[in-house]
Amino acid sequence: MKARFLPRGLGGGRPEEVRIIDLRSDTVTKPTAAMRQAMAEAEVGDDVYGEDPTVNRLEKRAAEIFGKEAALFVPTGTMGNTIAIKLHTTHGQEVICEARSHVFNYELAMMAWFSGCVARPIYAENGILTWEQIRREIRPLGPHAAPTGLIELENTHNMAGGSVYPPEVLREICDNAHEMGLKVHLDGARIFNAAAYLGRSVLEITAPCDTVMFCLSKGLGAPVGSMLVGSAEAIERARLYRKRLGGGMRQAGVLAAAGLIALEEMPSRLSEDHANAAFLADALSKMPGISVPHEVQTNIVVFDIAGTGLTTEEFSARLKARGILINGIGGTRMRLVTHMDVSREDCEKALTALAQVAAGAAVNA
Ligand SMILES: *Cc1c(COP(=O)(O)O)cnc(C)c1O
Repeated sequence: MKARFLPRGLGGGRPEEVRIIDLRSDTVTKPTAAMRQAMAEAEVGDDVYGEDPTVNRLEKRAAEIFGKEAALFVPTGTMGNTIAIKLHTTHGQEVICEARSHVFNYELAMMAWFSGCVARPIYAENGILTWEQIRREIRPLGPHAAPTGLIELENTHNMAGGSVYPPEVLREICDNAHEMGLKVHLDGARIFNAAAYLGRSVLEITAPCDTVMFCLSKGLGAPVGSMLVGSAEAIERARLYRKRLGGGMRQAGVLAAAGLIALEEMPSRLSEDHANAAFLADALSKMPGISVPHEVQTNIVVFDIAGTGLTTEEFSARLKARGILINGIGGTRMRLVTHMDVSREDCEKALTALAQVAAGAAVNA
């Protein structure tokens, strides 16, 4: 983030230049110089006619990398999930998902609005569902219950602290679901983080899922865009739903050009973000009043500040006064996310501020 001056009384006695360290989310990443150059030089056409060569290249590469028949470039992850739920369900069905999932909590009831479905949320402490938990909630059509239409999983799980599905747990869910004629959609907004943690390819860890949505715009650094991958039949229908939702873009190659760099070049650096998150979590867990409830596997650290006696709003404000941005996520929990625009040195600075705030230092101390 660009250097700026903090107002007098916030950053200290006199105004000084402070570099803001933004740990609110990996959505804040800015496109790299290589991405901006590729965007400027991108070959483009009208993608609604299927004539944008750069979008076509991105869709072909995404399908190859995930070992699926086809892929669709969508403006946002929310649109990708929305289309996937529509593809696999009919009105009046239930979608099984984890209680803190993005589809249930952060997409404005989109599954009800667009697909006429309700969520059947199941809580799992680390965000990772098992087949046993899901099996108990599957409903057939009857005189009272709405039937299960789809199982939706989130990998990594955002609000549970970036947790990763063990591949065998995911496979067991998919195999059993398929045996019952149910489809599985994976919200893989951060699937490349899961792959980096597991040291496996995204193809291997998502193979049993029917459709996968992933974001180019978060840890991978593209300015805009997500992908939906699946069978040729599913993606052909998905293209029509994208148009209905207003997501039929024209010379979108300028965005796809950045997306291609995100897809090809950025996954290999994610483990750096994971190391920074582990570094922050380890130090946080030793600070007075702070606990880290989940094992940190990827680039997300959820931590609890109950013991500091501060609200998350107070905690955020005191950090902000020190040039560090971190948000609360409900109750006494806060979430920080590491990404390519945050260095190890930035993490060290963030820890200094976190330690001061945790120790109850006054805003102007
Ligand atoms: C960010 C995110 C999405 C999609 O978000 P958009 O802002 O619509 O791109 C979906 N699922 C999860 C888990 C996410 O973190």
